[in-house]
Amino acid sequence: MVVRSNIPITVANGDGIGPEIMSATLRILKKAGAPLDIRTVEIGEKVYLKGETSGIEASTWETIRQTKAFLKAPITTPQGGGFKSLNVTIRTSMGLYANVRPCVSYYPFVETKHPKMDVVIVRENEEDLYTGIEYRQTEETYHALKVITRPGCEKIIHYAFQYAKANGRKKVTCFTKDNILKLSDGLFHKIFDEISPLYPEIIAEHWIVDIGAAKLADTPEDFDVVVLPNLYGDILSDVAAQIAGSVGLAGSANIGQHGAMFEAIHGSAPRRAGQNVANPSGLILASVMMLVHLGIVDIASNIHNAWLKTMEDGIHTYDIFKEGISKANVGTKEFAEAVIQRLGQKPNTLKQAHYLESASLMHHELVKSQPAKSEIVGVDIFIEGNKSVQEFHQILEKLNSEKIHLTMIANRGVRVWPNTMSETSCGDNWRCRFAVKKKTGNLKIKEIADLLQKFADAGIEFNQTELLKTYDGKPGYTLAQDEQ
Ligand code: NAD
Repeated sequence: MVVRSNIPITVANGDGIGPEIMSATLRILKKAGAPLDIRTVEIGEKVYLKGETSGIEASTWETIRQTKAFLKAPITTPQGGGFKSLNVTIRTSMGLYANVRPCVSYYPFVETKHPKMDVVIVRENEEDLYTGIEYRQTEETYHALKVITRPGCEKIIHYAFQYAKANGRKKVTCFTKDNILKLSDGLFHKIFDEISPLYPEIIAEHWIVDIGAAKLADTPEDFDVVVLPNLYGDILSDVAAQIAGSVGLAGSANIGQHGAMFEAIHGSAPRRAGQNVANPSGLILASVMMLVHLGIVDIASNIHNAWLKTMEDGIHTYDIFKEGISKANVGTKEFAEAVIQRLGQKPNTLKQAHYLESASLMHHELVKSQPAKSEIVGVDIFIEGNKSVQEFHQILEKLNSEKIHLTMIANRGVRVWPNTMSETSCGDNWRCRFAVKKKTGNLKIKEIADLLQKFADAGIEFNQTELLKTYDGKPGYTLAQDEQ
């Protein structure tokens, strides 16, 4: 028998159905002999209502930091403004860059349109529109910043391939929208193409996210591991879990260099709270992922197989219970007892779980790429107003100098000067592009500041500026529709 010392983990019981499903999960972990030293913390609704807008107290961070993993039940975000998403706060503050969500169908024991589905969604967790950087630029116009970085892409894409390799998966598919978002999603796709040859044993493919999503919803059996930027990952991981059978059955892991968090994918289902009816399966499977992460793979396999056997024996909670398929409609506690009774047993029809230590969901060390040579070649200056394009052109032309001149005015991404089309519908935020004249050498930041000073002197208020830079000679900015 292996004698192991207890591994410290943090546990949060959460809100709504959280305490019931956590109690069921911890009982299974205990009965299976998982060597865990549990430190319980309070997060969520009660903490929000005490006036802590993040839903987590400063002292709780210390506990999470000191332990190797965080097993978290769902929490309730109180209605009304001002409360930040606790999940996003934990993921970004702790650097949990990879969100891993296996979406498996359990046909014929749980109803599904996709009997052969077995997909793992690997979602980037820290960047993209989830940085929440938004501005009201003008009376009519609001901007949100989509942030994509090279290290962020490298971490998640390496992670997806390493996960595939460690878990006997054959293919990694990348989804982006780089036909439109050429630089940000373009970077994600480019890095996917750079990294995929380092894993020759794994098939690599890329889909534009819209048609890829349609295909995933239609024939999920064609996919294996799918890696995506944050927003597409958020949406498609819910779609994938739902079409597999039920969001009540999926667990997820959030993995980082300094910690990891495990949770069910569903929320706190307040209407079901305190009735002993909730399905604890999502949290049970999340705890299996946690055990694998901690290297306790024998107990992880044992619990997973006992859970699969319980599914096969038709012992189901109300959310998946179906006359003719299920055998018993049980409550949360009874479901946990049924799993405990089956510890040591294996499923007959469903695929057995057999985790290896190499399947640990640990992070990947990054190698830094060489920095590119950057040069300033212009600036985009956004101004508010309701003048005509011709009027704007006349005013802005006066600000041209020997070295830098107005080359374009664009509105909502469409070039409106030169070559104005009267049909183009314009908002109140104008992007005025000033670029260096050819053969005059590149610009210094002081020359950009001088141009901005001219705007100020002319009484033109600017609400945003973006430097136009080249990196190793390649533009680090996109052209407006139709710009040459
Ligand atoms: P929800 O997932 O709580 O509920 C959606 C539906 O699924 C409900 O009909 C519910 O009864 C059912 N359901 C969910 N989990 C179930 C389970 N384990 N067993 C049986 N039925 C289950 O989503 P919601 O209603 O949109 O959100 C409720 C609260 O949960 C909100 O405050 C939301 O902010 C929060 N939430 C928290 C998390 C998290 O902590 N990770 C995630 C999502 C939502």
